[in-house]
Amino acid sequence: AGAALAALLRRGAAELQRVLHENEAHLGRIDAVAGDGDHGRGMAKGIDAAAAAIEPLDGAGPGWTLRTAGRAWAAEAGGTSGVLWGAGLEAAGEALGDVRPVYDASAALDAVIAFADAIRDLGRAEAGDKTMVDALLPFRQSLSAQVAAGRSAAESWRDAAVLASEAARATAALRPRKGRARPLAEKSVGTPDPGATSFAVIVDTIGALMSS
Ligand code: ADP
Ligand code: MG
Ligand code: MG
Repeated sequence: AGAALAALLRRGAAELQRVLHENEAHLGRIDAVAGDGDHGRGMAKGIDAAAAAIEPLDGAGPGWTLRTAGRAWAAEAGGTSGVLWGAGLEAAGEALGDVRPVYDASAALDAVIAFADAIRDLGRAEAGDKTMVDALLPFRQSLSAQVAAGRSAAESWRDAAVLASEAARATAALRPRKGRARPLAEKSVGTPDPGATSFAVIVDTIGALMSS
């Protein structure tokens, strides 16, 4: 049951490489407003490392595949977001495991919950601090409600991704209370949080892949 998902993860990493490179300059610009401008580069390095690490893993299960991706991402990406994405992906892989009889909507939800818990344990950001957590929490909440209502993984993920994009755009109104952008918090008002923006781009891309 896991082989199809592991293959989807490898295809997904290749597609995310394309999309994150396409967004690299934009993510760098919005990080430069109150941060240090490296968010686009960091996300591109992270996905490049993850994709290269899992590309040869033909036959590995989905849990091992995601854990490998997370380790590579954490080792290569750099920055706060690199540490968080690496740990989040490793936790998601741990939660998925390699031996479930089925990989369905509740498996996807388990992975997202583990990802979110790892990010929050490590970063300690709360809702409204103007971080990726502001897109991640509505995404997790929406996914959880839809899966509980019996919708498919692809439908639930797609609709949750729409909410994540809206939430990421809405961070423009906030003042950062965590991370490198905090000292220049006022300058950041009017610009969306880079980490929330890249999170929304990633879940949107995955949602499209799940439906294709
Ligand atoms: P750095 O700030 O080290 O240069 P990046 O630019 O790659 O790292 O990532 C910045 C993003 O990291 C921010 O836009 C924010 O979304 C996220 N971030 C920063 N601190 C935290 C935190 N404590 N918890 C969750 N996310 C955070
Ligand atoms: Mg930065
Ligand atoms: Mg940096």
